Amino acid sequence: MFAPRPAPDADRAWVRARLLAGAPHLAGDFQRIHARDLRRIGTLYDGRSFDGTLARTLGDTPLTYRVSGRMTRCLGLTYRHLQPLRFEIVVSSTLLFGNFDPADRGVQVVGLDARDRLDALLLVMEHELVHLAELLAFGDSDCAADRFAGIAHGLFGHREHTHRLITPRERAHARGIGVGARVAFEHRGQRHVGVVNRVGRRATVLVPDPKGARYSDGVCYAKFYVPPDALTPADP
Ligand SMILES: [Zn+2]
Repeated sequence: MFAPRPAPDADRAWVRARLLAGAPHLAGDFQRIHARDLRRIGTLYDGRSFDGTLARTLGDTPLTYRVSGRMTRCLGLTYRHLQPLRFEIVVSSTLLFGNFDPADRGVQVVGLDARDRLDALLLVMEHELVHLAELLAFGDSDCAADRFAGIAHGLFGHREHTHRLITPRERAHARGIGVGARVAFEHRGQRHVGVVNRVGRRATVLVPDPKGARYSDGVCYAKFYVPPDALTPADP
């Protein structure tokens, strides 16, 4: 079903060219992306790299695509929802749009260099489609396992199952804003100083407040959700 193919780069270039012919807004470091763009990519890869097996095996089972601004660590995820059965592929816009600034370090996705945002998108879609293929063929899928690695390498030349994009957490950390850091920020015209408790798309900052909830250190804190960019390191 998934016989190795000779030239994954050629397939990727083919998908890229066909995709851009129908969706020119995805060129290079694109600025917007829709679920229907993901569907276009899925359909092109199914035809080119899977010989149409995905659509044939899905039959009437729905496959939906979603762009998520909430995923800050995973670039893509593939779900199998039950009752009723449907599959869903989700791609993180936060990670796509949070990378490929000219000043940033280079990034890799699945062990291959991603030259631009579209490269990263195609590579993660390849990865998620292998998840889908495994789920359809075997009922389970684990990208840390040998079977997945064999398929992803044979079909697409992937070398790893992870991405090395810059996450909001890494970006905040580079500015001295990791978990436990003392930070200052402004909220409704007032300056607050607190401690970072968690870093995602937003950082959770705990500010001492007698009216807040009591934490394990015995102190009461009010909780603020602040974009990491709006935090500045505060003196201890
Ligand atoms: Zn995976």
